[in-house]
Amino acid sequence: MGVTFSSFMTVFRHLSDPELKGEIGDPTMYERFWQQAGDKSTIVIPGWQSMSYFSDAGSLCWFLEPDFAKEIIRLHKIVGNAVTEDRHIVVGTGSTQLYQAVLYALSPQDAVEPLSVVSAAPFYSSYPLITDCLKSGLYKWAGDARSFNKEGPFIELVTSPNNPDGYARQSVVNKSGGILVHDLAYYWPQYTPIISAANHDIMLFTVSKSTGHAGMRIGWALVKDEEVAKKMVKFVELNTIGVSKDSQLRAAKVLQVVISSCQYPTSLGSLFDFSAHLMEERWSLLRAAVRQSGLFTLPEFSPGSCSFLNRSFAPQPAFAWLKCQELMQDCEGFLRSNNILTRSGKHFGVSPQYVRISMLDRDENFYIFVERLSTIHLRHSIQVDERGE
Ligand code: PMP
Repeated sequence: MGVTFSSFMTVFRHLSDPELKGEIGDPTMYERFWQQAGDKSTIVIPGWQSMSYFSDAGSLCWFLEPDFAKEIIRLHKIVGNAVTEDRHIVVGTGSTQLYQAVLYALSPQDAVEPLSVVSAAPFYSSYPLITDCLKSGLYKWAGDARSFNKEGPFIELVTSPNNPDGYARQSVVNKSGGILVHDLAYYWPQYTPIISAANHDIMLFTVSKSTGHAGMRIGWALVKDEEVAKKMVKFVELNTIGVSKDSQLRAAKVLQVVISSCQYPTSLGSLFDFSAHLMEERWSLLRAAVRQSGLFTLPEFSPGSCSFLNRSFAPQPAFAWLKCQELMQDCEGFLRSNNILTRSGKHFGVSPQYVRISMLDRDENFYIFVERLSTIHLRHSIQVDERGE
């Protein structure tokens, strides 16, 4: 008997659900801030509103809601993390759509072979998957930027701070012909000190990791070159005929509340005070658990002076990039057997001795995670004793 579609889907769902959760780093940690902020961020959209495809028919990005564009500029100004002057804003259904729009915009339509796309390992695991999922003739994933030595043009993705390891990054390919795309999803003060306003040609941002509204599916690109911005707009037009207006209106409201939380902080503090404090607390609990376990190591970071929070602190990334002891080759499998779901280093272009763990889960899950991690050496030594090693 062949496998029916529904039984196939059941197997598929069972296999993918927990893995998917471990894969995408759901930022549910932020729910508490938004619950405490109450009705300030509530919007009501009457049935007759946002019906047209168009938001601003005469402008380059005709599906960008002007109120959302205004709040993006205000937010970058107040945080000081990116230059917005002389830039075009392109909105996307998450920065995931904008990543694809960038690849489309930068690839020559008449090239004899696909444009190479590289990023230094460990790189964000979705880059190779998204780049090659449709087997495009325009562009192709070409792996680790550090070992890339092919002649001709290429795109280098610079993710800073980097997903998965949290380090600040610059381009690593030391040759001409490269076009840089800066993915700045984590360049916000809860994760890393804001040292200066990023001033690159193509910069990608998302609400998913800045305000925690991953489900809104909203990202934005700041693009210097008008032709590149126009082609990105063309891609979004071909792909989804624009971006949900409802989501953009909600995003505008959320950014407005974030900005006023910075200008007129209540006892809660600004969104960035709240989340920077939480990340600091979580990293200190995680480091204590790792020390107690004695089985892993974490990246070490040097402090930097943050112009937004007016203090010096070391990066406190959205992911923990954990390295297991030399003897444990399959770190993901080892942690799974201890009821901790992670994503193996092999997806990020490095060895399975590494795993990535989200630091942005809800409080209760985070506390269970550090508790399990800190006592893992006890279970591990029992397992080793039982095997007689
Ligand atoms: N870039 C990086 C580096 C990310 O980590 C993520 C989210 N995991 C994204 C882009 C995608 O963001 P979005 O939810 O806006 O599609």
